[in-house]
Amino acid sequence: MAEKVIPIRVAGAPESAAPWDGAALRDTLGRPIRDLRISVTDRCNFRCVYCMPRKVFDANYRFLPHAAILSFEEIARVARVFVSLGVKKIRLTGGEPLVRKDLAKLVALLAPLGADLTLTTNGSLLARQISALRRAGLQRLTVSLDSLDDATFRAMNDADYPVASVLEGIEAAVAAGLAPVKINMVVKRGVNDHQIADMARRWRGTGHIVRFIEYMDVGSTNGWRMDDVVPSAEVVRRIGEQFPLEPVEPNYTGEVAERWRYRDGAGEIGVIASVTQAFCRDCNRMRLSTEGALYTCLFAQTGHDLKALLRSGAPDDAIRDRIAAVWRARGDRYSELRTAETARLRKVEMSYIGG
Ligand code: SAM
Ligand code: SF4
Ligand code: SF4
Repeated sequence: MAEKVIPIRVAGAPESAAPWDGAALRDTLGRPIRDLRISVTDRCNFRCVYCMPRKVFDANYRFLPHAAILSFEEIARVARVFVSLGVKKIRLTGGEPLVRKDLAKLVALLAPLGADLTLTTNGSLLARQISALRRAGLQRLTVSLDSLDDATFRAMNDADYPVASVLEGIEAAVAAGLAPVKINMVVKRGVNDHQIADMARRWRGTGHIVRFIEYMDVGSTNGWRMDDVVPSAEVVRRIGEQFPLEPVEPNYTGEVAERWRYRDGAGEIGVIASVTQAFCRDCNRMRLSTEGALYTCLFAQTGHDLKALLRSGAPDDAIRDRIAAVWRARGDRYSELRTAETARLRKVEMSYIGG
């Protein structure tokens, strides 16, 4: 239910953003701000068919020039302001975050902010970077892996990386002290859904948590069709037939994944049912795009520029007031309203605003 919106104080704000009573900052549906996802690059070394199909993201595709993207210092400044507004969790994403040069330097700038700091990666470049990221203060890790079989893996990511390179990255992460790792599998019917039980079997008993994600109509290039979606309820049923499952309470309000554990104690899985069981009601995520625009929903059609303000010499409290104003005006609930028509709308690509 919508809650009374508390006005943002502007006059007399201190030079540097002071702690903010996060509980007071709510959007038009009464949702607090908690998570910040930062897209550090719009580039990627994969061409996943559901995210950056090669026929669109080809050799002629114009990615953002370096001058257009936020510097690490700019990102860290915005992140600090977000933390002062009540953000508790920061996820670095993209595009593929590990293709951004010297990412560990950004991690080192963000780690002292005190938020839970995590990263989502396709894992292909992880083995060689994980030690530096860990030393810089990375606390948690999500690795995307859509199949354990090379042919299916390639059918999903349309790139020339073997599954082994990702597994090596996960092992390196464990060796660096980042276990348990979350492993994301986007499930597309007829392409990799035959691997659902294999994935569950592979990671059972390891402590790592596989999260099966419904294929979503993000962006406007992946040719999404409802027929390609495997509902999470079906995923749970198919795994449960081999390894009986029982539901687990969420860790916190607004948690994206619905949790299930193996009845035999071999750990847990998650399902992300963004299409068949929308969870907008508790959505507390804001996204910062590669070039410094704020997006209040993964399916947004437009963003709110912050870069011009950042580069104008504005003080932190002006940045804070801008972010707060965007959050206060937010009323997004795309997944609750999704229809075949909305799926065809021209939305911002996920690689640009951050998955
Ligand atoms: N490149 C990194 C990776 O793949 O992990 C980070 C960015 S990626 C956009 C973030 C997450 O979004 C990945 O787990 C990816 O599988 C997921 N994703 C991308 N497109 C999707 C889609 N159409 N439906 C569901 N999940 C998607
Ligand atoms: Fe790249 Fe990740 Fe998108 Fe795949 S899902 S194309 S790895 S950004
Ligand atoms: Fe949040 Fe938008 Fe996804 Fe709903 S559709 S859960 S508002 S990002």
